[in-house]
This record gives sequence, structure tokens and C-alpha cells, in this order.
Amino acid sequence: MWKYAAQTLGVVMMIVSAVNSAPAGEIPHYECAMGEVDVRVMSLVQKDLNPAILRAETDAEKAAVDRAYPDGAIHNVLNVLLLRGHGATVLVDTGYDWTADALLEALRSAGVGPEDVTHVVITHAHGDHTGGLARDGKAFFPRASIIFSDKELAYWTNPDERKAASEGTRKIFSTVSDILALYGDRVRAVAPGTAIVPELPNVRAVDEAGHTPGHIGVMVESGDKTFLFWSDLLHAFDAQTADPSMSATFDMDPAAAALVREATLKRAREEGWLVVGSHVPFTEPRVLP
Ligand SMILES: [Zn+2]
Repeated sequence: MWKYAAQTLGVVMMIVSAVNSAPAGEIPHYECAMGEVDVRVMSLVQKDLNPAILRAETDAEKAAVDRAYPDGAIHNVLNVLLLRGHGATVLVDTGYDWTADALLEALRSAGVGPEDVTHVVITHAHGDHTGGLARDGKAFFPRASIIFSDKELAYWTNPDERKAASEGTRKIFSTVSDILALYGDRVRAVAPGTAIVPELPNVRAVDEAGHTPGHIGVMVESGDKTFLFWSDLLHAFDAQTADPSMSATFDMDPAAAALVREATLKRAREEGWLVVGSHVPFTEPRVLP
């Protein structure tokens, strides 16, 4: 259901409310232009999280979390991103395996079929970001290159790290081997700070290591406007924008995650970036107050 349409930032925004039971064909999305790049955020599903995922240690932190989530749930959507321009169709993250139908519908409503996708950027190897790469044991994107950060790919393909990992984490190593088996030499690595695809020089990977060893965000710059898809920089928007030092239990390096969260949110506020992430309660990017 269209909630409202507004004219802002010189572009037409169309916002669909993120509802629990969006009927097929109504994937909430937001679209805007960043220079010559068309940016589309798509919310595949409503996915609440338990506030217990936060590492609230002091009484003050616990009280702040209780205040932020009085009904005991962090109400989030799961966002993926589509960037289009100069012949490139770049999907950033793919959702869970169980949101594959929603991903297909989200792409279809953007006028894109899986065969049209030229690049899939995986911000990190967790299953809620890689799940849409395979369908029925086959590569879902027949033409696309699959792009990880260099550090992320190096970590999840390192046999010594795999041996040292816990059983739960070892599953993620298997996910990455499966992706390599499906996509072969179409899997590529990009260095943070550089353009992700040559067609779109104003789209860069941003180093956000901490949540995972090579976690990245995706930044689009145009003139004096900056848009950041921060992926899993945070999972509890209200609590962690208020206190960026608080990490989540699934941040692999909680201290590093806190540092990059603090620095990124500070710059986003100071420079008025438009921001959105994978696990936030909104589809339409925001400027942080
Ligand atoms: Zn995630």
C-alpha cells in the first residue's frame, strides 16, 4: 500500500509502508537518483530481533535497551540494495534463502530479472546476506560476478581459520565454499575504498570490519550528497545510534565493531549522509539527527 509520495532532495520518493503481511507484488521500496546512479532500497521481509542480542553490560545500558524496546522486540525490516547506471545492474546482498521469493519479486517490480544482474556485492558472508545466491542448488544469477571485500574472502577461504572456528561459525565457511563452487571464477574481491564496479566510479566499498573480518558498507557519492548502505554496522537502530559503543552478540570482534560504528555514525551526522542498513526499522534512507 502506498503510504505517501513526497518530493524531496530534488527526486521523487515513493515510500511503501513496511507491513507484516505485504501481499505478493508489494515489496516495500524506496528509489532515488544519486547523480547518474539509480538507488533502490528494497525491504524483503519484516524481521524482528530480540533485544538480548545487544551486549548491554552496565545497569544503565540495560535500562536504555529496555526503554528503547518496551515491547521486548527490535522491529526491523531486512533491506537489500539495487544500484543501476551505465549498463551495470548491481544487487547489494541477497537476503536469506527463505526470502528468495521476496527477492525475486523485489527485482521483478524493479523491472529486473536474475539474468539482468551484472554484479552481486556481498557485504559479508552471513546467511541473511548470501541466502539468495543459490536456488535449488543452482546459481540464481546466471551472469553476475559475485563481489566480496578482499579481507572477507580471504578470511572465509582460509583453512586455518576454519579449523580454529566454532561449529556454528564453520557453517559460514561452508556457505562460502558453496558460493565458490557455484560461481567459480566469477567470484571476485574488491579492496575497500575503491570503486566496486568500473561502470560506477562513484560507488565505493567502505571498510566496516568488526561485525565480520571483512564487513563492508556501500557508499554512493554525487556532488555534495552521500548515501551509505551500512549493512550490519548496527542491528538495533534506536539503542545503537544513541550508544554506538554497544555491540551485538553476533559482531565477531565487538570492540572493532564499536569503533567503526562510532566513527561512521559521527561522520554521517556531521556530513549529513543519507543512511540505511540491512537491519533497520525503515526502508527510506534517513539523515541522522
Ligand atoms: Zn545481517
